[in-house]
Amino acid sequence: MKDTFKHRGMRQKLVQTVKDKGITDQNVLEAIGKIPRHLFMDSGFLDHAYQDKAFPIAADQTISQPYTVAFQTELLRVEKGNKILEIGTGSGYQTAVLCELGAQVYSIERQNELFKKTSKFLPKLGYRPKKLIFGDGYKGLKEEAPFDGIIVTAGAPFVPKPLMGQLAIGGKLVIPVGDSVQTMTLFIRKGPKEFEKHELGEFRFVPLLEDKN
Ligand code: SAH
Repeated sequence: MKDTFKHRGMRQKLVQTVKDKGITDQNVLEAIGKIPRHLFMDSGFLDHAYQDKAFPIAADQTISQPYTVAFQTELLRVEKGNKILEIGTGSGYQTAVLCELGAQVYSIERQNELFKKTSKFLPKLGYRPKKLIFGDGYKGLKEEAPFDGIIVTAGAPFVPKPLMGQLAIGGKLVIPVGDSVQTMTLFIRKGPKEFEKHELGEFRFVPLLEDKN
């Protein structure tokens, strides 16, 4: 669990890369500059941790590409104290970004192996999400709703209704929708039944899976 001068240097380059690709939110860039991404990855990929790429983690899942993490987070416009629900905890990297922004983070993961690993790991780095849940993200987290933001970090074949219903008025849902390729979609809740929809380009994610194995 070491973070060296060399790692910090590579991280600053990554921040520049993400910035060059169009990310402007200073808080998001600072979070990427702070979080030791190499510690979220399996040892075989350590040398690649600061490339702007997705990499395999346990249970056949991936740690998202930093640009994608930054893009989704920027769309959420997180303010300190916001209540944010993440679907797909995975490595916990996106969770850590949300914690850095001062959000109260709830995150759901359906792979028990990842849930356990990340639950132990995040506090070691000083990240304390409000709650990590082992469960099915399609259902959201009714008992903690409404949320100021919901971020889905796996490709959803459709937009799960419960997630729309668990947004506060003014809240935002950021979700990649599609099968093999996903369209990043932002919904802003304008009223009990009114949602504004924005489509923001194509991305590729591992699928949001329905049945637990
Ligand atoms: N945010 C993660 C991205 C991990 S990839 C990171 O930064 O590392 C997507 C994650 O979504 C995987 O860990 C996968 O197991 C999880 N996932 C897939 N379907 C899910 C579901 N229905 N509910 C909750 N998590 C799910």
